[in-house]
Amino acid sequence: MRKKIVAGNWKMNTNISEGLYLAKDVNRLVLEANTREVGVIIAPPFTHLTEIIRNVGSSTISVSAQNCSSEQKGAFTGEVSVSMLHSIGCTHCIVGHSERRSYFHEDNVILNKKVKLLLQAGIIPIYCCGEVLKEREEGKLFDVISSQISDGIFNLTDYEFKKLIIAYEPVWAIGTGVVATPQQAQEMHAFIRDLIFKKYGSAISQDTTILYGGSCNAANAKELFSCKDIDGGLIGGASLKADDFIKIVTSF
Ligand code: PEP
Repeated sequence: MRKKIVAGNWKMNTNISEGLYLAKDVNRLVLEANTREVGVIIAPPFTHLTEIIRNVGSSTISVSAQNCSSEQKGAFTGEVSVSMLHSIGCTHCIVGHSERRSYFHEDNVILNKKVKLLLQAGIIPIYCCGEVLKEREEGKLFDVISSQISDGIFNLTDYEFKKLIIAYEPVWAIGTGVVATPQQAQEMHAFIRDLIFKKYGSAISQDTTILYGGSCNAANAKELFSCKDIDGGLIGGASLKADDFIKIVTSF
């Protein structure tokens, strides 16, 4: 059976003391809520990872990076490698968030390199896909998602693919307060699951966790998570307040 997961993407927010406080608070609330069937992941900035992993990285919550280099090592000033993440005990890494795709021009080829390196190191990629509003309005949304999925992750072996988490994040919903309707989200999640079915077969498609992201919050999570093919959320803004985040974690 596929896993239910709620992951918080903190983006470029919090300093180290604020981040550590937030992580400890989330950890405490998750323990109190005793939601063992839900995997909880937080993705703080790089600078916080070691300290947060040391303090709260545990079987209760997992700690993810928000990005990694597509190169293994060497003269890439400012980059953080997969092996560096591995060496501090980081278990997950977000790949291909729309902000990386648009502001940093990361394409499916680069993202595929990152996914492969992460899997080789035993780190679970959270692979993001999503269409911009114009693509949806022009009816190109399924083509866009189809190529982000097939070019980004469909050269993985069955064994590799099984480790992956996918996040569908319509770009027009990220940070805008305009959440996809449960019907819109479910339609795309079912489409993605069907793509996986055609490529990897029934068992893998049924076992793949597909998260929804984009203005998901404590008020709308329950309805979204009740959809057949939505297995949880990738949460931006609402992951920065422990009380809001835990309400989402307990929305199944
Ligand atoms: C995100 O950035 O992954 C995200 C879903 O952001 P928000 O929840 O703020 O829309």
